Amino acid sequence: MIYLDYNATTPLKPQVQAALHDAMAVIGNPSSIHGYGRSARRLVEQARQQIATLIQCDPTFITFTSGATEANNTVLHQADVERILVSAVEHPSVTDVADILKAKKGINFIPVDKHGVVDLSALEKLLGTDRRATLISVMLANNETGVVQPIRAIADLARTYGALLHVDAVQGLGKMPVSWSDLQADFLSLSAHKIGGPAGIGVLIYDHDQPVLKHLQGGGQERRRRAGTENLLGIVGFGAAAVAAEQDQQHFTHLRQWHDAMEQAMKRAVPQARIFGDGAARIGNTTQIALPGVTADKQLMALDLAGFAVSSGAACSSGSIKPSHVLLAMGIPEEIAMCAMRISSGWATTEDDINQFTAAWIAMAHRLTVDKA
Ligand code: PMP
Repeated sequence: MIYLDYNATTPLKPQVQAALHDAMAVIGNPSSIHGYGRSARRLVEQARQQIATLIQCDPTFITFTSGATEANNTVLHQADVERILVSAVEHPSVTDVADILKAKKGINFIPVDKHGVVDLSALEKLLGTDRRATLISVMLANNETGVVQPIRAIADLARTYGALLHVDAVQGLGKMPVSWSDLQADFLSLSAHKIGGPAGIGVLIYDHDQPVLKHLQGGGQERRRRAGTENLLGIVGFGAAAVAAEQDQQHFTHLRQWHDAMEQAMKRAVPQARIFGDGAARIGNTTQIALPGVTADKQLMALDLAGFAVSSGAACSSGSIKPSHVLLAMGIPEEIAMCAMRISSGWATTEDDINQFTAAWIAMAHRLTVDKA
């Protein structure tokens, strides 16, 4: 089997496995005063520093959470604002919360253009026409298309209009430079399992000049920002993955070249295929492509039988046959959106994997479209 579903989750890196193995022998609650507790605490603080080094922020800005879903929920639920502006292509851990909050706060979805990029003039209009205290939530890179948003320009608009900015940088981390000071966001969400770390651990990052956003009650952990005994293994794994991510830059340059070559070969062989977001900046590991006339479930089954693990739209919503909200927001007709699948590669992917996949996809496309005709 060749695994090409890294945007859903990544295999654990060997360095992470080694760090987890060592940490499994550690006893102790990081809040305990005794020596065991202090050893556990040292591991937590070391991991916090490792993540801080990767994104160049003050380690005390980092709060560990159970993942990016919790980090995103925390910001949307707890930010002291009257209104939230959410891009139409956010992950469901943002859009679903926005839907729930509709009864309590002003919620607006910020449109994107046909490439999937946030419409800055629409955002400015939304900011200018209603001056209530506002939070903007826009992701750095999209999990389905890989399209990268102009976060600095959005941060500039947020400053001009006195709004707060939350950035879900889950899919950007490790694949492009992610720096706390460059992004100019007020809140940042990250997750370990997209960079070779374990699932079930993430962070929410914000400066001390923000009021504390506490979503879970019942303990003073994480400098009173997040209650609950720390997930020591998860935290150690995230730290190790952050260190390992620094060595990945060259590999991601290669992934971009291999995806470019794959996309060109697919378009040459199957001219009716559509690649989404190819008119915008994208992270190099992600290709979302539709084979019009053949629904994604048929393509996925054929590719699974051929030995390739890929995904339809977002993994989180696979199993359901709803078209991707990201593609619909980009103006893609529903019948084409239903035929879209995502190929996402990562740290262990080789050029041969991509070449084999390209050949299998072209064979599958020819077979399924001929069958249909
Ligand atoms: N945001 C984005 C963009 C994601 O891709 C994901 C994972 N599918 C999440 C948030 C949720 O992260 P987690 O799995 O850590 O809860």
